Order: sequence, then C-alpha cells, then structure tokens
Amino acid sequence: TEELLRNTEKLVFAGQVAVSIAHEIRNPLTTVKGMLQLAGRETKPLHYGMMMSELERMNLIVSEFMILGKPQAVRFREERCLPILQEVLGIFEIQATMNGIVIRRDFVRDLPIRCDRNQIKQALLNLLKNAMEALPYGGEIEIRLDEVDGCQRIRIADDGEGMTEEVLRRLGEPFHTTRPDGNGLGFMIVRRIVDAHRGRIAIRSEKGSGTAVEIFLPIGSGPADEGDRFA
Ligand code: ADP
Repeated sequence: TEELLRNTEKLVFAGQVAVSIAHEIRNPLTTVKGMLQLAGRETKPLHYGMMMSELERMNLIVSEFMILGKPQAVRFREERCLPILQEVLGIFEIQATMNGIVIRRDFVRDLPIRCDRNQIKQALLNLLKNAMEALPYGGEIEIRLDEVDGCQRIRIADDGEGMTEEVLRRLGEPFHTTRPDGNGLGFMIVRRIVDAHRGRIAIRSEKGSGTAVEIFLPIGSGPADEGDRFA
C-alpha cells in the first residue's frame, strides 16, 4: 500500500483545539503532581510510583502539544541534511547497536535546501525512533539521501514489523498509537514539519516486512524567500 499524505484543514483545526486543551490541563496537572509529592510518605510506594509515572506521561503529552502550539522562531536557512542527520544518528547509535540494529547509510546526494534546522532534526528524530521501535528484535534500517525531481529525498526504511492498512491509514492522527509507551504524536509532527517546508511524504508499509518513509524537500528556493517568520 502506497500513500501520499497531505495535511488537512480538519487536522489543523483538531491540532489547535488540542493545543488549547493542553494549555488548560497543564496548571492543574502541576498542582496534582506537587500535592502527590507532598503526600508521598503516606502513600503506598507502589501506588505512588504508578501515580507519578502516569502523571509524568500526561505531562509529556501536554508538553508535546505545547511545543506544537507555541509560536517558535522558525529560521529558514540554506542547509544540507547530512550534518543534521549525523547529529540524529549520534543519538541513536548506542541504542541501535544494543538492539542489534544495523544502520545502512546510502548517501548519494546531499543538496542544500531552505530549511529550519531544528524542525528537520525533530522530523528525522521521530522517523528514526519509529524505525527503531519497529525492530524490537533487531534488523536493518536504511537511510538514503538522494535527489528526485528537484527535491532532496530522505528515505528511512526499516525491515521491521510494518503496519496494517488501518494503522497506515490512521498514521498522523493524534493519539493513534500501537506502542505501549507511544503517544501517537510523532508522525503528526513530522507531517507538520514537512508541510511547513512545502515538501511531501510518501510511505510504503507492509505488515511483517517493513516500512519505508520518504520525505521530499524542495531544493533551493523555499519558504525562506519570504523572510523569517513565526509558525
Ligand atoms: P508513536 O510512535 O508515539 O506511536 P507515531 O505517530 O510516530 O506515534 O506513530 C503512530 C503509529 O504508527 C505507531 O504506534 C506505529 O504503530 C506506527 N508506525 C509508525 N512508524 C512505523 C514504522 N516505521 N514501522 C511500523 N509501524 C510504525
């Protein structure tokens, strides 16, 4: 199943609603956490630990949404992907080795694109994390950089567990996750970032054999031509 994904108005609106809810939840959450810490001694250690970790989980979801909604300075610069990718790979290297994952690098072309470095880093991080999570018993991740139709293509493919049609269809839908520790926000963020760069995403996935995600980012002129802005 191959699918081209595009952001929809609906998703943008849902995102905005979610961001305002996240905002409202944050303060009471902090209060509850503080109170629980105070009550810590009177609570059974097991219960305390469970409550704290669940609160932590809520906190994480809330902060991810806050990041999404916060006006962040977006700085589009002419930049190549490889150095950004290397940074991200550095983060995962040890974990990959420990999990028996081989990362194959196939860097054919690395052309300058107009991009926000932090956003691209975030997108690559989320995609690599997903690829790693799809390989709980080890395997291979292939990363390819090349040029396709005036775009820098970044391809991240794993021979992991793959997705069912339903999971693939719902990919990018907030909170839709199959991972026990997931929050189903990772891909939505990737999609947002690629949209902000006027790029596109192509995914191919098959249950049991693996997943390939490709992002295409326009080479040369891009959003930066409008000057720095807030998104
Ligand atoms: P999360 O990783 O928190 O679950 P994502 O939005 O990144 O959130 O992913 C949503 C779901 O899509 C995952 O739970 C997983 O089921 C599926 N998925 C994403 N990437 C892959 C991949 N490379 N291989 C298999 N399944 C994937």
